[in-house]
Amino acid sequence: MSKMRFFALQELANRQPLEVSTPSNKLSDYYGSHVFDSKKMQEYLPKEAYKAVTDAIEKGTPISREMADLIANGMKSWAKSLNVTHYTHWFQPLTDGTAEKHDGFIEFGEDAEIIERFSGKLLVQQEPDASSFPNGGIRNTFEARGYTAWDVSSPAFVVDTTLCIPTIFISYTGEALDYKTPLLKALAAVDKAATEVCQLFDKNVTRVYTNLGWEQEYFLVDLALYNARPDLCLTGRTLMGHSSAKDQQLEDHYFGSIPPRVTAFMKELEIECHKLGIPVKTRHNEVAPNQFELAPIFENANLANDHNQLVMDLMKRIARKHKFAVLFHEKPYSGVNGSGKHNNWSLCTDTGVNLFAPGKNPKGNMLFLTFLVNVLMMVYKNQDLLRASIVSAGNSHRLGANEAPPAILSIFLGKQLSSILDEIARQISDSKMTSEEKTTLKLGIGRIPEILLDTTDRNRTSPFAFTGNRFEFRAAGSSANCAAAMIAINAAMANQLNEFKVSIDKLMEEGVGKDEAIFRILKETIIASEPIRFEGDGYSEQWRKEAARRGLTNICHVPEALMHYMDDQSCSVLIGERIFNETELACRLEVELEKYTMKVQIESRVLGDLAINHIVPTAVIYQNRLLENLRGLRETFSPEEYEELSADRKELVREISKRVTAIKTQVRDMTEARKVANHMENHKDKAFAYEKNVSPYLESIRDHIDHLEMEIDDEIWPLPKYRELLFTK
Ligand code: ADP
Ligand code: MG
Repeated sequence: MSKMRFFALQELANRQPLEVSTPSNKLSDYYGSHVFDSKKMQEYLPKEAYKAVTDAIEKGTPISREMADLIANGMKSWAKSLNVTHYTHWFQPLTDGTAEKHDGFIEFGEDAEIIERFSGKLLVQQEPDASSFPNGGIRNTFEARGYTAWDVSSPAFVVDTTLCIPTIFISYTGEALDYKTPLLKALAAVDKAATEVCQLFDKNVTRVYTNLGWEQEYFLVDLALYNARPDLCLTGRTLMGHSSAKDQQLEDHYFGSIPPRVTAFMKELEIECHKLGIPVKTRHNEVAPNQFELAPIFENANLANDHNQLVMDLMKRIARKHKFAVLFHEKPYSGVNGSGKHNNWSLCTDTGVNLFAPGKNPKGNMLFLTFLVNVLMMVYKNQDLLRASIVSAGNSHRLGANEAPPAILSIFLGKQLSSILDEIARQISDSKMTSEEKTTLKLGIGRIPEILLDTTDRNRTSPFAFTGNRFEFRAAGSSANCAAAMIAINAAMANQLNEFKVSIDKLMEEGVGKDEAIFRILKETIIASEPIRFEGDGYSEQWRKEAARRGLTNICHVPEALMHYMDDQSCSVLIGERIFNETELACRLEVELEKYTMKVQIESRVLGDLAINHIVPTAVIYQNRLLENLRGLRETFSPEEYEELSADRKELVREISKRVTAIKTQVRDMTEARKVANHMENHKDKAFAYEKNVSPYLESIRDHIDHLEMEIDDEIWPLPKYRELLFTK
């Protein structure tokens, strides 16, 4: 056995769970202790400074320099009470938190500056040396600087000895270089559009908030085994590995008991989350062995997303302490369930109404139906944009692989709601409703029960499922920044609601009454968006055919799916709603294509190296042993006996030789394909070339290696195997 694998297994045998103690028995003693929240602001800030921050949060009023100084001072005093020595602007560049060169964030503390110098100016704005963050060419063509600016709507927090200030990250010329800037714009756009629609029903509504509740799936793997797998370390997934004799067939892991080492990790993670005011709630095992899920209570989408990014970072650090590596990759192991990050999304008014929850009376239900039906249309019209927002090299192994939503967008509503919509659609086919028809319609609407959807009426195969009081977008990948999906969904929703409002206004100008105008447009929209509704099994082959018949798009190839960021509909949403300008959108696409290319390139290089340096030599060693064995047999036995006794080993030698040759040839061809692709100037061509000409080798080379793994003596196999990675506690 290779030394790496041997020592890793030895180390593993001696692992013990860490002792984790709670700061106090009462959660309220430490919940939010590391957040500069409103309570602490009141304590540490002079009255006028406190008012300046609250006004900025609630009304978006700018904070004067004088006030900023007072706020910075108060923040500093609070931070010092927690022994903080440094501060840093904390932002989300366009990478995801994967095992790559750039992590999701600048590391806490690393580039942090000394807190003694902290002033209002430094609180509000900074110019980080961030030349290594992806920018899609913006800073090459314009200015070489970027700057960060304080996002007052997300509170400052302390990690270790560093005060972190959530910020947006933009180029010197104002183009967004991060996820937060466009997310804030999309949230503002949907706020404005939804408020206007709500006012058709209730003039008291002045704001609409977006809620997000994410469910983070992840794998844990022992740190020593992880370190002995260069593919896991460098790409976040295993590029080879034969399935274990037992994997998830028994599904005995799901809701099974959590191993003690993992429980200790989870306990510490929860404590740290709670200190940071992150309301994490559920933890349980997932379908695959060593796969888990963490979910908080939903929050305002901007804060929820900051919290998700922060949690991912905490998880990596705390896992290390417990001698685990945490895997956020969408498909770390082939043949085993992958990881997603469901985005539970809802809209809520400042009067406390959840717009995706049925109301208490027909009027409330009308409001609910209006939003529901607009979601249907939004998804129907923006299938390609929504898909573009979640595709990635990692997620491509998951989508359409019989375990995750397919690359086809559809919405599941549940029986009750579907039949109500069908009923509405069936009524009145001409433009004018008789009063009788209006009454039946009203009765139907009045019949929507306040609590919809019992837990049995759930469809786990739907990419966009209505779950009683929210929609659950399930196609997002576990390593992704939720903002990408949230930008697309909320911008598209804003766009859809604006169009809806225009249609209503037009009818009303023509003299149609408000209620009837709403009925009419809703009915039209229900009929027009019908193809997006699907209640059946989203993983089935029939659905693929049926979806094609309905004209729904189904795009599995990442670069092709990404290109839809720039199609007419996406532009009219993203540019039309002023989430991006043209340069920003083009750059975002370029960054995504580049990320795809880089990931496949790294995987291809790592696989090539491992194949040639680890696998082929091991195969040759084993082959030589077989040849020695054959020589011995020939010396010992008569020619006839030898023929009979040696047949299987000869066959094995032949088989191994063939596979070794195939691996070598394919690695060489793959390298050639990379070279050709690398010479391409255009990001689009390059990504397409990697997808078409490089990525297929990853599969075919792996296939040979996985067969060799079964044929070669376990003792000399160089890498930890699936059964070791997946079943160690
Ligand atoms: P499940 O696994 O059944 O989908 P979970 O309880 O694991 O459910 O996660 C559901 C997530 O949805 C949680 O983050 C929860 O806070 C969130 N959620 C619940 N209601 C809403 C809502 N109205 N809007 C947004 N998110 C919600
Ligand atoms: Mg869920």
